[in-house]
Amino acid sequence: MKYDHILIRYGELALKGKNRVSFEKQLLANIRHVLKPIQGLKVKRTFGRIVVELFEVEPGPVVELLKNIFGIHSFSLAIRVDHEVLDMQKAALKAVQESEGTARTFKIVTRRAYKPFPIDSQTLNHKIGGYVLANTENLTVDVHNPDATIRVEVRETAAYITTDAFKGAGGLPAGTSGKLLLMLSGGIDSPVAGYLAMKRGADLEAIHFHSPPYTSERAKQKVMDLVKRLNEFGGNIKLHIVPFTDIQTHIRDEAPSNFQMTIMRRMMMRIATKVAEEKGLLAIATGDSLGQVASQTLHSIHTINEVTNYPVIRPLITMDKLEVMDLAKKIGTYETSILPYEDCCTIFLPPDSKTRPSRKHANKFEQYIKVDHYVTQAVEGIETLDLTKLDDVEQAIEDLF
Ligand code: ATP
Ligand code: MG
Repeated sequence: MKYDHILIRYGELALKGKNRVSFEKQLLANIRHVLKPIQGLKVKRTFGRIVVELFEVEPGPVVELLKNIFGIHSFSLAIRVDHEVLDMQKAALKAVQESEGTARTFKIVTRRAYKPFPIDSQTLNHKIGGYVLANTENLTVDVHNPDATIRVEVRETAAYITTDAFKGAGGLPAGTSGKLLLMLSGGIDSPVAGYLAMKRGADLEAIHFHSPPYTSERAKQKVMDLVKRLNEFGGNIKLHIVPFTDIQTHIRDEAPSNFQMTIMRRMMMRIATKVAEEKGLLAIATGDSLGQVASQTLHSIHTINEVTNYPVIRPLITMDKLEVMDLAKKIGTYETSILPYEDCCTIFLPPDSKTRPSRKHANKFEQYIKVDHYVTQAVEGIETLDLTKLDDVEQAIEDLF
């Protein structure tokens, strides 16, 4: 007997009423997609759970991949047995022995989801617990604070015996909340903002403003690497690279230095809006955090936001830099984000940016900027990259082990 299944639980979906079935189907599809490179598995939906049948596959790599998938609350390795008490007893014993070395106490928790099963939960707990006690040494029952909890789920066609649960990524399954455009720099914040939007079920496309030769191929590669990392959370992210050099030199030549940053941001926002419109996306996301720098004061945000009629989602708006950094480390974007690169925003910009730029002044200075001309030119020059090829996923799995 060995762990031959993985039981997947998805907490929040249960709360979603009539959306539930479509969310379950999406989650099932996402799990299948992420596990596709591992041959020989079967993933199916049964009675409010998703179950992975492992056959001969080692669980380790499957577990690592499942940890990344949004919409999963928790999951456990499981042994599947028929409705025979002796089989349940043997499986429970096996599960206890797997956690041997650390566990000195245990308890059995039986859940009889299949009510016609003739033995009630309490009696099953006793029968299975008694068998484990009779076949081990140095183990005792502790119902209040056990080292190991062995769960027995009696379902319609089989019983599943599990021990510890792995924590899932939480959130909602990717693809259940519509699609938005992530403004992705090579910095720490915007990849985290993208991750959080994905966590709530949003699909992404990403847009990056690039100013060659002032920003290099290396800066572009960094952004591509960040997109690939985000794709490992079940994304399918296209990356739009916008040529931004001409706009920046034009702004440098025509706008007063303390308004250049504001006008540059407004140009970015206009271009993002146009791309979002063309692609049928529903919102724009940025990595802004309130007050972090001059461009992220409420005054700045107010003035920059004037040029778009799109919802702008700012998932990090209330977070401290340290919190964002912790999350970046946790999701594996930090190491890439801190690599040195040239930032198109800082390359031209004078240090005297206004922290309280008004809409009135921005509009006045933009009279000297050829807004429509440059927005059209930038959108026409976009290069779109698709980084979702299967070999990337396979490489990512190799990197994990
Ligand atoms: P980040 O760490 O994401 O770069 P930041 O704290 O450095 O953020 P800024 O550089 O002021 O802040 O950028 C604020 C937001 O504007 C970014 O989070 C990102 O969403 C967007 N942004 C900035 N530069 C670019 C760029 N070159 N391409 C696309 N989006 C950008
Ligand atoms: Mg930045």
